[in-house]
Amino acid sequence: MKRSRLRRTMKKLLAVTLFLLLFGPYAISAEFWASKKSNKYHYPDCEWAQKINPANLIKFKSPEDAIKAGYIPCKVCKPPVASK
Ligand SMILES: [Zn+2]
Repeated sequence: MKRSRLRRTMKKLLAVTLFLLLFGPYAISAEFWASKKSNKYHYPDCEWAQKINPANLIKFKSPEDAIKAGYIPCKVCKPPVASK
């Protein structure tokens, strides 16, 4: 009984690991958020990014895109200025 439960747990763990391996890079390569009302761009999880009104939210795929659009990196979350 105990053994089969363990195996099920292992299977679940394996599935989660596989999922992370497959989709992790996409989640990490994320995006950067900026507000039409400011000139800074943020990591999406930055406290200031969270405060951006959805109506004013702009999303950039890379820091270069944000900089090209005239935005500068936030001093709180310190997003990169160039993608690697
Ligand atoms: Zn920020």
